[in-house]
Amino acid sequence: MTLYDYALKALRSDAVTTVARRLTKGQIRILAYHGVPDAEAFDAQMRYLRANFVPVGEGAIAAAINNGAELPPGAAWVTFDDGDPSVVHNGLPTLARLGIPATMFVCPGLIESREPFWWRITEWVAANAPDAVTTPGGPAALTEFVKTVSDFDRRAIIAELAPLVGQRPQSWEQLTHNDLARWLDAGMALGNHTWDHPCLDQCDHDAQVAQITEAHEWLCSYLGAPPRTFAYPNGNFSPVVDKAVNELGYELGALYDNQLTRVDGRRLELSRLMVEADQPVSRLVGVLSGAQPSLAGLQGKLARSSN
Ligand SMILES: [Zn+2]
Repeated sequence: MTLYDYALKALRSDAVTTVARRLTKGQIRILAYHGVPDAEAFDAQMRYLRANFVPVGEGAIAAAINNGAELPPGAAWVTFDDGDPSVVHNGLPTLARLGIPATMFVCPGLIESREPFWWRITEWVAANAPDAVTTPGGPAALTEFVKTVSDFDRRAIIAELAPLVGQRPQSWEQLTHNDLARWLDAGMALGNHTWDHPCLDQCDHDAQVAQITEAHEWLCSYLGAPPRTFAYPNGNFSPVVDKAVNELGYELGALYDNQLTRVDGRRLELSRLMVEADQPVSRLVGVLSGAQPSLAGLQGKLARSSN
């Protein structure tokens, strides 16, 4: 167990949760998940959330941020990035049973496709075919390196690496229309996460706008109404995208920066808390306390000083 885990464990008491809630008054908790690999662990997290905070949906958050509507103390909004099918398969039963509204930020270009997210390919090749990696930094740096090249080069690299993967794991499958219907039927929401999850900071102006508008048009037609929320892939904020989502009428935009959210903050730059669905409840307690970033900073300092 690391010092970080001990510190988070120490946070797991009702007293600390109460103090944290008082100290962070006026701030909202927006949780940013990805997939839900472990239904049981996620169920335990959501039961904790339901018992100690007040889960609210995107409508309540938008009303508070944009119109000054009152939010209940301890308001928390659950979000999922990328649209991993495990969110519907393993997470939705818990969300529906506990009455926790959630938003899933999806990439329409990948829905019902046979195409995995690009980083699954780089991660697979780095782990299973390291000799094929000729990019600077070698296999260990492959995914990070690919984020630093132009969108055109990234697509070329992925096209070259993809055939190296033989049988693709089942966990690489994408959302189906059936999954989406189940999600929406349960009263959950969908948000825009770009057309196919590029690194926006490596796309030119027109490509950035196209990534937003194509996903927007798909969602408008699928939902029969415009989506209200957008989340930046990789958390890469971009002024071009900010302008585009503003013009399209988005009510909320979400970052990926591991901070509590200020109610009086910019509506298209909302901070979110990073959390993984298969972690023990003690981790979620630390994340929700808002103390995680400083703990992570402390852990980083200690790790550096011990090297
Ligand atoms: Zn993403």
